[in-house]
Amino acid sequence: MARKLTTCTFCGAGCGIYLETAGNRVVGAYPSMSHPSNAGRICVRGWHVHEVASSPDRLKWPLLRKNGKLEEVTWDEALGFIADRLRNIRDRHGPDSIAFLNSPRCSNEETYLLQKFARAIIGTNNVDHGAGVYCNNSIHVLLEMIGIPAGTSSINELAQSEVIIVDGIDLARQLPTIGGWVLRAKLKGCRLIVIDTRRHRIAENAELFLQIKPGTEISLYGAMAKVIVDRGLMNLPFIKAHCRDYASFIERVGDYDLLQAAAECGVPAEAIEAAALAYARAGSAALLYSTGIEARHNESIQAIVNLVLLTGQIGKAGSGLFPLTEQNNLQGVCDMGMMPDRLPGYQPVTSDRARASLEPLWKARLPSTPGLDARRVLADGVRGKVKALWCCRCDPVSTAIFGDAVRLLETAELTVVQHLFMTDTARRAHVVLPTTAFGEERVSFTNTERRIQLAEQVIDPPAGPMAAWEQLTKTARLLGADWNYPSTGAVMDEIGEAVSFYSGASHENLARGYGRQWPCTKDRPLGTRVLFTDPAPAPNFKFIPVPRPRPCAADVDAFPFTMVFGHSLYYWHQNILIQHSETLKREYRLLLLDYPEGFVEINTDDAQRLGIRDGSKIRLKAAGGAAVSVARVTPEVRSGTVMVPYFVRQLERQILGTNDGASPLVPVRVEKEGA
Ligand code: SF4
Repeated sequence: MARKLTTCTFCGAGCGIYLETAGNRVVGAYPSMSHPSNAGRICVRGWHVHEVASSPDRLKWPLLRKNGKLEEVTWDEALGFIADRLRNIRDRHGPDSIAFLNSPRCSNEETYLLQKFARAIIGTNNVDHGAGVYCNNSIHVLLEMIGIPAGTSSINELAQSEVIIVDGIDLARQLPTIGGWVLRAKLKGCRLIVIDTRRHRIAENAELFLQIKPGTEISLYGAMAKVIVDRGLMNLPFIKAHCRDYASFIERVGDYDLLQAAAECGVPAEAIEAAALAYARAGSAALLYSTGIEARHNESIQAIVNLVLLTGQIGKAGSGLFPLTEQNNLQGVCDMGMMPDRLPGYQPVTSDRARASLEPLWKARLPSTPGLDARRVLADGVRGKVKALWCCRCDPVSTAIFGDAVRLLETAELTVVQHLFMTDTARRAHVVLPTTAFGEERVSFTNTERRIQLAEQVIDPPAGPMAAWEQLTKTARLLGADWNYPSTGAVMDEIGEAVSFYSGASHENLARGYGRQWPCTKDRPLGTRVLFTDPAPAPNFKFIPVPRPRPCAADVDAFPFTMVFGHSLYYWHQNILIQHSETLKREYRLLLLDYPEGFVEINTDDAQRLGIRDGSKIRLKAAGGAAVSVARVTPEVRSGTVMVPYFVRQLERQILGTNDGASPLVPVRVEKEGA
């Protein structure tokens, strides 16, 4: 048996694992004891991540729709068809009639080539990743306020934190090994503060749990800043040396009031005050928040960063900002420019200088107008603007909670899907291209702490599938480009030329350690564990004053509950990798036995008051529609809130009436069905 160090490709923790092989089969996975991100621990998904490659459901040969049916064809026929159809659509409708979506699970190499294909060959900035509608808010805010669109520290630095704030993420379920770091820090004496609407496992362990009303984070952070300012706990030397716009921020902070915030957030004023004082007084304090689907608005992220700057809890051991990325390469796909307004390395597409520096490398004129994001692709497509859609490992029909992917695909002249499996989107595509799986190619991913690391090839792919990056390369050549990448290592070398903070991240360098955290440059090949430490150049951080939100004028008599969409352990059963891993499918489907048609979570006290029992039918009524579901009665959700897991898609559509994903918070009324 042989074994090789690689990276778990399930979530943004990016744990180091070994894959064990016998012949051309992976026979086991186990954790790396010395990997800095997981230090010998992995979760159930990591133990079984390798099973996906041996799934009997994998696609084998390219499929092309003929007479309404998908039929197996040769690679030459499939790629030739795509090239001809793309050329034809671009000539008739222009480059912006073609859009490209990928999954935040795609590797850095295939993402880089996909967005390069869109920009340099087709001539459009219509590129986005599946989570762009949510996490791009965080990217934009961080770029503006601290100049770096990523976490500032390392996961294992949490062991040195005196205070940790975890906001809006159920770490035990979403990023389990990071949850482990937090719990171990707590056992060593770190003060743990959780801000969330749900009482999850990490919240149960918190010294302070601020179970806020959904959507009130801005008031909470504003009030915390007010407490810190009133007590004179601002870090003035840090602010003076490193920050601008402090005066206008302080002016706005005066609008916040602790007691009013307590009423708006639904938590005791003493708890807000205690959280603020603990954070400001700590020698080192880390702040973790979700960038994901919890639909944070820009202002709530601005309020978080303001608090970090006010206290100077950045750039030192155990402190920093952790914008957590749930999918394994959410950070990487953004770094690679899979955003409609940003080139690789986050340069704006509107910048003449940025485009001019890439054009010689890509030998093409680049488009200067920001493209459509994923939500607009799926919505504008319905109105006939988007004629062709290319989906790389992405399944908008099953996973997009906005727009109408089915209607787009019905009207599109071309849909290309690159995937391992026959997804709901692939079923409706014109061409389906089978890709290689984890362990069958050497590619890189970037985890939530900026760690660029290799997922190694340990077995040969089966006959038939082709690596997604090779599919792109061959199609590009059919369209006249002189793309010549003998390996993913060559793609990474070009990434190093396009993205300055990846310039030292050659595959050879990544293989020498447990990957490298960017910036990883030729001068700094070992990477950077913690950003903004001395002797780094003085940063130029920026406060952004956040106006105090106006109290919501919701009709609480007609709609006394707030419906939120969120994660549930049950949600994972829908994950495509879990569906095709035998062990994980069994584990996660077990959870659904109690609620085979899905459920809505309601607080135990609310259920009792309304006479609702666990498993009974309930009716949800909103201004836009109504739906019937099954109640899951749990103390986890906050009183006054009902939570719909993401996988119950039809419920969301029935209640919202339309589905543009505009508001993640919906006022509803809850009744016993038949009452
Ligand atoms: S925490 Fe994430 S990266 Fe680590 S083993 Fe589990 S799924 Fe894999």
